[in-house]
Amino acid sequence: MLDHAATARLQCQLDELPEILTHVYLQLLPGSAPRGGRVSGATRTPPLPCRLDTLDALAPGRDGDVPSVGILETWAAVVLEDRRRANDWTGWVRLPAVPAEIPASTAIKVLRFHARFAALRPYAADLAAEIDELHHHLNRVARHPIKSAKPVKSACPACSLLALCERTDGWRECLACRATYSPAAYDERVEQRIEELAAAA
Ligand SMILES: [Zn+2]
Repeated sequence: MLDHAATARLQCQLDELPEILTHVYLQLLPGSAPRGGRVSGATRTPPLPCRLDTLDALAPGRDGDVPSVGILETWAAVVLEDRRRANDWTGWVRLPAVPAEIPASTAIKVLRFHARFAALRPYAADLAAEIDELHHHLNRVARHPIKSAKPVKSACPACSLLALCERTDGWRECLACRATYSPAAYDERVEQRIEELAAAA
């Protein structure tokens, strides 16, 4: 079982993965890195040359030291099956017809949607650790286009819970009540609150 901060971290990382994956795909091109990296054989016909470290990270179902996107599909299948068993009476969870063919983007959506449920299950720590590892690895392969998710720190002006998370686009989002604040709106709320406090003192 994950605590609130660990759950928020998992959710933030899952939110960031689609963008990171896009950057990783862009890095497949041999000339995409300033200092190269190993490139497959140069041809003008398919398979076209590409960077091997990037390709390894994108290859599903690879066993080894390098985390690959294949774990997304595996975990999505685990969580869906667990959820189906836990909620057998509702039948509202629609399982994909062929779990083996879930693309990474769908697997991320599934994991994000069921993150709060998964965070309470016995496998939560393993899931969070593997997503963290994959997030870090892909972000490194993509040359860190995305800063790590910031842990939850601040109180939400709407619901007062300590659940306000800063997103990578600079907006703040409350993980509890889903209120969102643009950077300008958030600064305004903070200034307003400071004035209120000063007036009350
Ligand atoms: Zn809130």
